[in-house]
Amino acid sequence: MVNDKKLLFKDRVVVITGGGGGLGKVYAIEFAKRGAKVVVNDLGGSVEGSGKKSASPADVVVKEIVDKYRGTAVANYNSVTTEGKEIIQTAIKNYGRVDILINNAGILRDVSFARMSPEQFNSVIDVHLNGAYQLTKAAWPYMRDQRYGRIINTASPAGLYGNYGQANYSAAKLGLVGLGETLAKEGYKYNITVNSIAPLARSRMTEGVIPPHILQQLGPEKIAPLVLYLTHESTKITNSIFELAAGYFGQIRWERSSGQIFNPNSETFTPEAVLHRWSSVVDFKHDKPFKGVEHPNQLADYNKLITAAKQ
Ligand code: NAD
Repeated sequence: MVNDKKLLFKDRVVVITGGGGGLGKVYAIEFAKRGAKVVVNDLGGSVEGSGKKSASPADVVVKEIVDKYRGTAVANYNSVTTEGKEIIQTAIKNYGRVDILINNAGILRDVSFARMSPEQFNSVIDVHLNGAYQLTKAAWPYMRDQRYGRIINTASPAGLYGNYGQANYSAAKLGLVGLGETLAKEGYKYNITVNSIAPLARSRMTEGVIPPHILQQLGPEKIAPLVLYLTHESTKITNSIFELAAGYFGQIRWERSSGQIFNPNSETFTPEAVLHRWSSVVDFKHDKPFKGVEHPNQLADYNKLITAAKQ
């Protein structure tokens, strides 16, 4: 049964980094259509992050929101890596607050690790991870003061699982998950939720990498419904990772094996003992002995392991 309550964002202020194209553009339009005031940030440039800054991608999206949908939006052309404060100030100056932050800006510098230069590694970390840090750091005090915030970090399947030629990108993307997991805990009492998404969608990032017949099914509009759901005021979900593609939405979580308790005081607490019990160390059947901590999501879950190990 489909609930007919429409999830509106009237008077909510949304900042979307990298909102000039691909996924960010779709989010910007969807939020605006549902009443949000949107800051469309994008500095232009190529998929590698090179080339001249250009106002045009953000301007085009704002024009579409205003002219076609009679929505409210303002463009911002700052870089997430160095000008996060200015991007958040665009929301404050124009609309007086910031409720929702979509950390979405990104670049690629794909090359095998053996050939990856420090510049190729660091520039990708800088845009994705440091960029999200800069924006979140600037938005956080406003969200805390107003006791309200919704943050989405854009991770990637490449970050969760690794992907050939993307050591820089994978590191940045899993870094965003870790950042989000801690911020979810620190933001909890301020009604700030933080979640990570790992999407797969058609955009200039995936064109030429994914075969056209698959790309056809990966419209970026198929990612937006979950992003809007997670950032709605009625949604309390936090500290979670979601994987999305072609209309599939699912959750990813950590899984700990049942494991093996060794006696650290025994003379047989040796590498050979590990070899001997290896199948227990990596046993995911969960029939012993750590029931209830198979899916850890906080450091405190360790208590149960340590207690069990002592017995
Ligand atoms: P995209 O290239 O269309 O969008 C990224 C946008 O970020 C661009 O418009 C770009 O100009 C902007 N940008 C780059 N550097 C910036 C900076 N320093 N400051 C401000 N803006 C900047 O690609 P997309 O596929 O829409 O990617 C959106 C996000 O989704 C990225 O974080 C990407 O890594 C992530 N992602 C995409 C996919 C996919 O399948 N398309 C998969 C996993 C993750």
